[in-house]
Amino acid sequence: MKKHNFYAGPSILSQYTIRNTADAILDFANTGLSILEVSHRSKEFQAVIDEASALVKELLEIPEGYSVLWLGGGASMQFCMLPMNLLVKKASYLDTGTWAHNAIKEARLFGDVDVVASSEEAGYTFIPKGFEVSADSDYFHYTSNNTIYGTEIRHDPDVPCRLVADMSSDIFSRPIDVAKYDAIYAGAQKNLAPAGVTLVIIKEDALGKVDRPLPTMLDYRTHVKKGSMFNTPPVLPIYSALQTLRFYKDLGGIKELERRDLEKAHMLYDAIDDSKMFVGTVTDPADRSIMNVTFVMKPEYKELEPKFVEFATQRGIIGIKGHRSVGGFRASLYNALPLESVKVLVEAMNDFQHTH
Ligand SMILES: *Cc1c(COP(=O)(O)O)cnc(C)c1O
Repeated sequence: MKKHNFYAGPSILSQYTIRNTADAILDFANTGLSILEVSHRSKEFQAVIDEASALVKELLEIPEGYSVLWLGGGASMQFCMLPMNLLVKKASYLDTGTWAHNAIKEARLFGDVDVVASSEEAGYTFIPKGFEVSADSDYFHYTSNNTIYGTEIRHDPDVPCRLVADMSSDIFSRPIDVAKYDAIYAGAQKNLAPAGVTLVIIKEDALGKVDRPLPTMLDYRTHVKKGSMFNTPPVLPIYSALQTLRFYKDLGGIKELERRDLEKAHMLYDAIDDSKMFVGTVTDPADRSIMNVTFVMKPEYKELEPKFVEFATQRGIIGIKGHRSVGGFRASLYNALPLESVKVLVEAMNDFQHTH
């Protein structure tokens, strides 16, 4: 049976990415060797990382003065690496969920942290608005997409200080005005590649401002200077990322990806809004995520939730059980998910409602 993969992360990758990665595991660039067993210093791999970085710059229209880095440690390592490199005295953070919360905790190790607003008391069901960011902050950090709670900020905020963002779960789903940012980071395992590599876009002149000693591996300048090859980078995930980036370019780039993502999200949100049984968990429709759609059953149907997961599984729908902190359902509609899978899910929702 065809599977429809709605996992939140690691999550669906394009068949193009998976097939080409499988091919390179058997024979990489006609070397007669597997990509798993060649030197990262070989000219064949250098070509891979160079093309991957160039495609990130091209797709996101990154201006001069920025470096694209491929690092280990996941997005979670950026929670500490970023303040270690950029926080001189004080930073401002917006608390919109677990990931933002974790980032705040790490930043406190390096200086004063001003949490400008939080929706924690409301279970992170909306994005706080109308907060103020002070101009004397070293930077303002926000999480563009709250993977667990299904909320998203789909614009580049205007703040009176430098701007940084965790875009782990919505990068490559909308155009970004990169010039507004000093740093953008994203774990690969949502919209890019298998887990194991983290994409970092860093403005070079934001570096070198802190006085604290930086461990070599946690100093962005090490990786800028060495082109992410100071030590052995995550070779295989970078190879897969290159395949995904080629696939994105062939599809028509970011605008086309955004068009597809909006179409999928609207289809599912319309089905939820029209339903007598299901209801969205995000309170302000303007905050609804295009990538992770969170919904539950209305109180009078609540006990049917596990039954629907079972019903959906029988139709090949995988990964829609909600995060334990939200409950209900979460359907992740990452770039690689075809519209057809959303249609199958909507059909399952409708059929389930008719029979219950
Ligand atoms: C998944 C996710 C993370 C954590 O990524 P790791 O690579 O597992 O550390 C951080 N932030 C957001 C927004 C995420 O979706």
